[in-house]
Amino acid sequence: MMKKNDKLTRRELIRRGAGLGAATIGLLVLGSGTSGCGGEEGPNCNDTSGLTPQQQSTRSSLGYVAQSPYGTQKNCTNCNFYTAGGAQQCGSCTLIAGPIDPNAYCNSWAAKA
Ligand code: SF4
Repeated sequence: MMKKNDKLTRRELIRRGAGLGAATIGLLVLGSGTSGCGGEEGPNCNDTSGLTPQQQSTRSSLGYVAQSPYGTQKNCTNCNFYTAGGAQQCGSCTLIAGPIDPNAYCNSWAAKA
C-alpha cells in the first residue's frame, strides 16, 4: 500500500516536471521569437520603395550590399561618402540615394579622409 502511494507520487512528480519543462521550452521559444524585433541587430535599411528606378539602378550597379564582405575594415561607417544617421537609424551616402546601412558596402568605398 505504501509502495503504491510512493509510485503515484513519483509518477505525479515526473508528470509535473514534464509539464514544467514544456512550459520552459515554450517560454524559450517565445523569447527567441521576439529577440529579432528588439532592434539589437540595427536598423532595416533595405526599403528602397521610395527610390526612382534610376536611383535603384545606381544602387545595384555600384554593388551595394547591406553587409560588407570586409566586415568592419571596409563598410559605410568608415567610408568618405557616408553620413551617419541617429542611433539605430540608417545613414546616407553622397553617391547612392536611399537608406544606407552602417554595415553596408559598395564598390565605390573610399577611406574616410
Ligand atoms: S560609397 Fe558605398 S561604401 Fe561608401 S557610404 Fe556610399 S554605399 Fe557606403
